[in-house]
This record gives sequence, structure tokens and C-alpha cells, in this order.
Amino acid sequence: MVQRAEPSEADVAGRVQAVRQEIVDAARAAERDPATIELVAVSKRQPLERIEAGLNAGLSSFGENYVQEAQDRWSGARRSKIRLHMIGPLQTNKAKEAVRLFDVIQTVDRDKLARSLAKEMDKQDRRPPCYVQVNTGEEKQKAGVLPGDLADFVGRCREDYALPLTGLMAIPPVDDEPALHFALLKRWADRLGLEEVSMGMSGDFAKAIKLGATCVRVGSALFGPRLS
Ligand SMILES: *Cc1c(COP(=O)(O)O)cnc(C)c1O
Repeated sequence: MVQRAEPSEADVAGRVQAVRQEIVDAARAAERDPATIELVAVSKRQPLERIEAGLNAGLSSFGENYVQEAQDRWSGARRSKIRLHMIGPLQTNKAKEAVRLFDVIQTVDRDKLARSLAKEMDKQDRRPPCYVQVNTGEEKQKAGVLPGDLADFVGRCREDYALPLTGLMAIPPVDDEPALHFALLKRWADRLGLEEVSMGMSGDFAKAIKLGATCVRVGSALFGPRLS
């Protein structure tokens, strides 16, 4: 049996349009300007043809979870057309590549990484804005700073490492109602004077926008199921 890659280019274009419309609707319902919300298309483990279809449909920000996959995919002319976000766990020994490649690094969550990123930024004289990832559900296996450590960590990022810190990011526990986590993340960002709030994925980005997201990370709603 011949298997066709799903979804087709036309499907991706339709999905992009539908997601965009939902962003506009959610923003308007919350009396927010839709232009202040960045749609980051999550391209991890998606075939190149779907990414190309997304680019053709006008997607201009992408999120990657792995440095190597991002380097392989985004080089040359294709890279220069988009903003690239790092949204996956980042190893300290990849700090150099990350600073070189990404426009935003959303997953700063420990001192060693913050220090390495700051050092690389000095060396390369390139300062992509950074977000602190917060483990809002205090899950054992999950990356991110614990809520109780957040204020101190943000203080050290600013004062000790001079990182260009502009936001917070979180991935709520899969089995929890995300609204509580979204509301907390937004409140902490406000308290800490951080403008950007990255929250909301395919299933809940409209809810995140109502609660103040400035960046939503959407994968399968745009591209269909990922390759395993
Ligand atoms: C994979 C991933 C997403 C996208 O998830 P979807 O449910 O496919 O939208 C968003 N954020 C992060 C950090 C991810 O790893």
C-alpha cells in the first residue's frame, strides 16, 4: 500500500489559516492586539515538506527542540527568512551553537547554563533574548526552575550573568487544567518585570492568549502528527 504523507501542502495552508484566525479571535475576546502575539510553529520531527508548506503559507517563527535538528534544518537562505526559537532542553555543551543559531532561547533553567550562555554571548557579541523555563507543576522529570527558586534565579541571571532576560516559559503538566498554570506564569512575569510569556500549545493556545501569552508554541495543529 502506498502511504501518502499527511497532511498535504493545501492542508497545512488551511491549518495555518485556522490557527491564525483562532489567535485573532482569542486576542480580540481578551481585548488584546493580535499583533502582540507571536505564533511559533513547532517543527520538531516534522518532515521538511510540511515545513516548506508552512513557510509558503507565511509562517515566520519556528521552534526547535534539538540543536542538531535545528542546525540541519535551518541553514542558508531558509534560515534568513525566519525567527528561530529554542524551546527544548539545552545542554550546557551546546551553548555555543545555541547562541550562534537561535533568535530566542526559551529554556534557561539553571545557573551553569545561564553562565555558559552569557559567556558565549560575550565571545560572539550576539545576544539573543532569553526566557526562563518554569516548572509550574513541580514535576520531577520536567525541566525548568521551581516556582520557589524563580525570583532568586532571575536575579542571578540579571545581576551575576547579565543575560538578556525578557520572558518566562512553561509547559503545564499534561493532566492538569492549564489555565491555573498560565495565570500563575503571567503573574510571575509581571512581578519580575518580564514582558514575554511563552505558554499554550496546540490544545490550549486560545486559553493561554486570554491569560496573557505573548508567544504560543503550536506544532501538531499546524503540521499534523509528528513522525515517531
Ligand atoms: C512539542 C512542543 C510543543 C508543540 O506541541 P503541540 O501539542 O504539537 O502543539 C510546544 N512546546 C514545546 C516545548 C514542545 O516541546
